[in-house]
Amino acid sequence: MKLGVLAEHSDHRIAVVPSVATKLSDLGAEVIIERGAGVRAGFADDSFSDTAKIAERSTILAESDLIITIHPLPDDEMAKLKQGALMISEFKPFFEKDVGEKIKQKGLQAISLDMIPRTTLAQSMDVLSSMASIAGYKAVLAAAGALPRYFPMMITAAGSIKPAKVVILGAGVAGLQAIATAKRLGAQVEAFDTRSAAKQEVESLGAKFIEIEGAKEDTGAGGYAVEQDEEFLKRQRDEVQKRAMGADVIITTAQVRGRKAPILVPKDTVEKMKPGSVIVDLAASTGGNCELTQDKKRIVHNGITIIGDSDLAADMPMDASTLYANNLFNFLKLIIKEGQLQLDFEDEIVQSAYITHNSN
Ligand code: NAD
Repeated sequence: MKLGVLAEHSDHRIAVVPSVATKLSDLGAEVIIERGAGVRAGFADDSFSDTAKIAERSTILAESDLIITIHPLPDDEMAKLKQGALMISEFKPFFEKDVGEKIKQKGLQAISLDMIPRTTLAQSMDVLSSMASIAGYKAVLAAAGALPRYFPMMITAAGSIKPAKVVILGAGVAGLQAIATAKRLGAQVEAFDTRSAAKQEVESLGAKFIEIEGAKEDTGAGGYAVEQDEEFLKRQRDEVQKRAMGADVIITTAQVRGRKAPILVPKDTVEKMKPGSVIVDLAASTGGNCELTQDKKRIVHNGITIIGDSDLAADMPMDASTLYANNLFNFLKLIIKEGQLQLDFEDEIVQSAYITHNSN
């Protein structure tokens, strides 16, 4: 079975790093890496051992039985794949509902890594968590870089500096890592999440939990948040506005799976913030938590810098690729047996991630 790994078009990461390529070839797969695909993540072609071949993109598209990318292939490249080929990527079917059906009609198969259940058993395969954690860390560094102030308290011969105040909205994987990073840098941190379990997690990291009563929760949502009603969101926006006026940095990560992100920082809140303050919006790709966010852009509004970027993990391509590849390998072990693809649909993880079922 030929397992092809392609370069990403607009991303410095690569889905398979040399150590994982070796492990995949130990599983019996014939691993082929696109020429130069790992260079921007620090993995030159010659860092892949002799067990992986280096080839041109067109060869990999035409010959692979299993094709691996982080971002889905464009339609014109899918058309170049062998009939029946299996693609593994993040197809985001929660947002693009008919993506599985479209791929099936092309005579191809797909596994979407973002559909792997968020369970303890599948934790080692969870690319969403690995990447969200990096994004949370990078969001704080981006904010610190843009802020015209220190994060930590400083007592110097030239005077004393108060610590920066950081507000974090959404304390899931990215938000918790952002809290930990901002605390390490010495900021005063407060955070909010609609999931009640988040309070204890926030406090265990030494941050203050912002109390806003009345959030809806659904234990059947697989750990994900559910959409809140307008009355709650209004109360939340009012509370956020009070905190925003004193904050130097707001980092927003609040998402509701399959829905547009809730607006938590409207324009009038931004306009009440101190000049020089920074907002980093990790929910930018699903509409943003700040009304003024522009996805993949950094703008300045009334002296407030707003960074809209949901792909900050791509800014740390070496470690991001390594963690991604490790997660991927833990999944591939389930479906590669003696060098061949063997998809066991009795397995809940395979069943959930495979998006081109006949019954779809
Ligand atoms: P996510 O990216 O979907 O959302 C980020 C956070 O935003 C979530 O914590 C969510 O509750 C919060 N949010 C939504 N609406 C909000 C609002 N109006 N105000 C404030 N916050 C709001 O979430 P995620 O980081 O991918 O995590 C999803 C869930 O899955 C979490 O409960 C997490 O602990 C859980 N999880 C479990 C495992 C595991 O057991 N293997 C692994 C990873 C994540």
